[in-house]
Amino acid sequence: MAIISSNIGDNNYPRIKKEIRLVDSKIIPEEKKSNNLNLARPETLQEFIGQDQLKSSLRIAIDASIYRKEPLEHILLYGQPGLGKTTLAFLIAHEMNTRCRITTAPAIERPRDIIGLLLGLHEGEVLFIDEIHRLNRLTEELLYSAMEDFRLDLTMGANRGTRCRTINLPKFTLIGATTKLASISAPLRDRFGISQKIEFYTYDELQQIIVNFSRLINLNLDDEASYNLAKISRGTPRIALRLLRRVRDYAQVVIKTNVISVNLIKKALNSYQIDEKGLDFLDRQYLSFIRNNNNPTGLDSIAAGLGDDSSMLEFVVEPYLIQIGFLMRTPRGRMLTDLGKKYIDSKHDNF
Ligand code: ADP
Repeated sequence: MAIISSNIGDNNYPRIKKEIRLVDSKIIPEEKKSNNLNLARPETLQEFIGQDQLKSSLRIAIDASIYRKEPLEHILLYGQPGLGKTTLAFLIAHEMNTRCRITTAPAIERPRDIIGLLLGLHEGEVLFIDEIHRLNRLTEELLYSAMEDFRLDLTMGANRGTRCRTINLPKFTLIGATTKLASISAPLRDRFGISQKIEFYTYDELQQIIVNFSRLINLNLDDEASYNLAKISRGTPRIALRLLRRVRDYAQVVIKTNVISVNLIKKALNSYQIDEKGLDFLDRQYLSFIRNNNNPTGLDSIAAGLGDDSSMLEFVVEPYLIQIGFLMRTPRGRMLTDLGKKYIDSKHDNF
């Protein structure tokens, strides 16, 4: 049984290795520069797999704005990392036959940053702001009139020398992306004409994404192999594509093949400590800790015991464990289900 000999709060509890998790949906540096991944981005709504309801709403909005020769309404996309928000922003610009300028809220520090961005836009262009919930107040206030009336209201000088100046902007479409809808202020949220949630993907949809990408990188996957990989990708295309790239590394370097079977996937993922359920060392360490405690356990105690941040455990580790029926959040603390206990008891990892 994979049990770590420690009690809650025991400082001797082994620390979690702080390495990049393959099953974390946040983007990693390698992926920002990957040409293959950029090529894999679908360019039209038709090529974009899944999210049918979202696609049909966007189709109508895009066609209506082309018909009226007006810019598309501002769009807010929300959902977990890696589900395709950036991809959709590029794709919408492509469908509108225009350009997409891309930035992220933490990069817009001073008012002159957002003023520069807005003044640099051309008529009809798309401005994509990722992590829009992190905009500072001044930037957000400047955006209000820019979004509503395509106008910048600037106040210059101080006290008695204060002057107001209005600058007209080209008509543009703002696409904001966030993983935290609740952190966006109501006035900003209200200025988006379209607000859409991006859902997790089904196994079939992920399988399709995997098959398309494997063709692009010259891998030969059979049906069983692609479905197997889809099942452990946590409903997230970014994770699916990342796992596939790691499987390719293993296949080409260790086995010297481009033909991928289920067996090869198992071996490859094992070498990265990912098991048949798609759980990695951190998931197992988390489950072991609660199993060891044998009682409902508070999140803060788990975080202290594992030497990690409680919000990371809450938002990154727990959702998938709950989704696959291994974990329950109860008023008395986190508890393993029978399924979760059975799973962790069958593991022999040496943490
Ligand atoms: P987000 O902005 O939500 O974090 P991205 O748009 O960067 O996610 O998508 C992550 C990766 O997954 C990209 O490499 C993208 O090409 C791929 N991807 C996302 N959604 C889809 C989809 N529906 N079809 C194909 N590939 C997708």
